[in-house]
Amino acid sequence: MSIRDSRTEAGEGTSRAATIVERRAALGNRPYAPALPPLAVRLAAPRGFCAGVERAVRIVEAALLRFGRPVYVRHQIVHNDTVVAELEAKGAIFVEDLAEVPEGARLVFSAHGVAKAVTAAAARRGLAVLDATCPLVGKVHREAERHAAAGRHVLMVGHAGHPEVAGTIGQLPEGAITLVETLAGAEAVLPPPGPLAFVTQTTLSVEDTAEIVAALRRRFPGIVGPKREDICYATANRQAAVRAIAAGADLVVVLGGAHSSNTRRLCEVAKRAGAGRVRLLARPEDLAWEELRGVEVLGVTASASAPEALVEGLLRRLAGRFALAVEERRTAVEDVVFRLPPPLG
Ligand code: SF4
Repeated sequence: MSIRDSRTEAGEGTSRAATIVERRAALGNRPYAPALPPLAVRLAAPRGFCAGVERAVRIVEAALLRFGRPVYVRHQIVHNDTVVAELEAKGAIFVEDLAEVPEGARLVFSAHGVAKAVTAAAARRGLAVLDATCPLVGKVHREAERHAAAGRHVLMVGHAGHPEVAGTIGQLPEGAITLVETLAGAEAVLPPPGPLAFVTQTTLSVEDTAEIVAALRRRFPGIVGPKREDICYATANRQAAVRAIAAGADLVVVLGGAHSSNTRRLCEVAKRAGAGRVRLLARPEDLAWEELRGVEVLGVTASASAPEALVEGLLRRLAGRFALAVEERRTAVEDVVFRLPPPLG
């Protein structure tokens, strides 16, 4: 549903209410039914799928079309249960351990990327691998490798346990890379003596990461790294967009998966930017009507792994209850498209 459609639905809601009023008037001089209460909705733009997620989902769909069922996928292809459920319905089987994949089967690596050890294990099992690692994550892998080849110890700014971080750390031999998670970590880290470099996870908070990197540069003036961290365009754009709708919003809804790093960062950014309340919402139907009590201005965004259908579903639900005035606030235009890998591209 487009924004215009949502307005139409709101209009339909209003005309339903008008019909009730006319019927009541025809029955006698009874009280008028109230019109739908107004709700101003600010839509962040850009929002939703990024080029890396689009590509990863298309890789699984194209593999299913070309090679038939089943296609195995290591880890959630992207951190969104709706996307995963739709691909499962089409014949994808999601696994965490390569031992669950029959020898010789077709396997897709998720957009988060994998450690070299995983690639090697897949080769040992004779699996036909399609790599859906986002090219921007792959770029960080190559940066890390380049630094290690130049004799630099690498500090990785990121969150422990996230598959992207495990994949990047796993590009280098043990001991060649150290994880830094927080500003306190940056102040305390004691890398081995010698040249240093840093890389970052792609889906971090722009503000937090700038502080961490500033601390690393202050403590280790010779440290080598990217000019503006490795945070990807999609993460940075979605954070800027949610910042633009958050101030003055009574509630900001962030559609996305609870395990998704970029979803959680959008919640933090919205809160910091002045949203009254912030709600991470996996599915539109999870929003209880009581949560909208007293809300006059609602901000809506979706993380890089959340399909636009979730935003449309939320607007449809809201239009049944409120007279919506939807305003999209665009802070950037995106035209990034990544090609599919061979043999699909
Ligand atoms: S969020 Fe950024 S790094 Fe992650 S898949 Fe999307 S474009 Fe790639």
